[in-house]
Amino acid sequence: MSRAYLEVDSARLSTNIETFRRLVGPDVILAPTVKANAYGHGLGLAAAAFVEGGADWLCVDSIEEAQALRLLGTTCPLYVFGYVPLDDLGRVPELDVRLVVYNAETVQALAALGRPVRIHLKLETGNHRQGVDANTMVELAELIRRAPHLELEGLSSHFANIEDTTDHAYARAQLATFAAGVDRLKDAGHDVKIRHLSNTAAALLWPEQRFEMVRIGIGAYGHWPSKETQIAAVLTGRSSISLYPALRWCTRVAQIKALPKGSFVGYGCTYKSTHDTQIAVVPVGYADGYDRGLSNLGYVLIRGQRAPIRGRVCMNMFMVDVTDVAGVSLEDEVVLLGSQGDEALTAEQLASWAGTIQYEVLARIGAHLPRLSVRGPAPTESEPSAYRAPRGV
Ligand SMILES: *Cc1c(COP(=O)(O)O)cnc(C)c1O
Repeated sequence: MSRAYLEVDSARLSTNIETFRRLVGPDVILAPTVKANAYGHGLGLAAAAFVEGGADWLCVDSIEEAQALRLLGTTCPLYVFGYVPLDDLGRVPELDVRLVVYNAETVQALAALGRPVRIHLKLETGNHRQGVDANTMVELAELIRRAPHLELEGLSSHFANIEDTTDHAYARAQLATFAAGVDRLKDAGHDVKIRHLSNTAAALLWPEQRFEMVRIGIGAYGHWPSKETQIAAVLTGRSSISLYPALRWCTRVAQIKALPKGSFVGYGCTYKSTHDTQIAVVPVGYADGYDRGLSNLGYVLIRGQRAPIRGRVCMNMFMVDVTDVAGVSLEDEVVLLGSQGDEALTAEQLASWAGTIQYEVLARIGAHLPRLSVRGPAPTESEPSAYRAPRGV
C-alpha cells in the first residue's frame, strides 16, 4: 500500500448520475465531465462509473484526455470543450470526438482534413470566456456548411454566475441570449440537433431549461456547486435532491514525537506549542495537492478524531497535534478528506479554510496518487449534506 491513496466509491458516482437522469428525463443527453482527472477522482474509474450509471456522453477538456479515455476502452461519444491547438486537430477524427469550435481557423483546419467531424459552435452569452457573437456564429455555420465532411451538430454556451448567487437575473439574460442565437441560426437555415448550456447548477435549478444535453461536473461527484445553489434549490422547492460525495483521501502516520512546551513546528517556525505536545508527521504535502493554505488552519482525522495542523504544510508532509488522540500509533490511518468513524472532513470545509472552492480542492489532488475503487455503505437519505453544521456540542 502506498504512502497515500484515494478510495473512490464508484457506486455513489453511478447513483449521482441516476439522480440527474431523474431530474432531466430520459431523452436528454447526460454528459458528465471527467476533466481534471475526473475532478480528482481518477479518469478511468469515474468514466466507467458514470457510464454504468447511465451517462450517454463524456465531456473532457483536452484531446489528451480524450485519447486517454479511448486507450482505456471508452466507446461512448466524447465531447472536447477545451482548446485543441490547430496542429492537433488531425487527432479529432481518429479519436472520434465532437469538438467545440469558436474560430474560423479551426473550421478551416478541420475542413482541410477531409474527414468527417461533428462540430459544436459556442455562442458568447456573457461569460466572456470561449464563444463568438451571433454574427460570427452564422459566419462559422456557413463555413461549416461549405465543407463537405463537416457537420454542425450542436450549439453551446456556458453560464457565468449561476452558482454564485441566488439572484439569477444574469443567468436568465444569458439564457435569453442563447435562445435568440438558436433562432438566429435557424433563420439562417441551420438546424442544430443538440443545444446545451446547463452545468450542474442549471441542471439542478432549471431542469426545464435542459435543451438536448446537459454538461454536469461537480454534481456528478456528489457535491453542490455552492451554498447559494443549495439555498436556491430550497427556495424553489427542490430541497429533496441528495448528492453523495464519493472520495476518501487517506494516508498514514509516519512518525510520532513528544515536544516540550514552547517548541516550534515546521518551516518558518510559525507554530509554537503552548503545552507539552504529541505531534504526528503526515506524509502528504502541497506537491500531492494538499493546499498549503491549510497551514495552521486545517484538520485531519486520526482514530475518528480531529487533529489540528501545526505549522506550515510542506511539499510532501505536514505535522498535526495528536496530544488528545488516545492511543495513536505509527501507520494509523489518517484521513485528509472524507469520513472516519463518526467524523468527516468535506471538500467544502477544506475549501473554506484554504480560501478556495471545492472544485479546486478536488481537481488538485495529485494524479500520481493511486485511486482504489471501493463499495462503501449505500447512501441514506439522512446522510448529512456537504454544508452541514458540525456534529457535537
Ligand atoms: C467544467 C465545465 C462544466 C461543468 O461545470 P460544473 O459546475 O462542475 O457542473 C460544464 N461546461 C463546461 C464548458 C465546463 O468547462
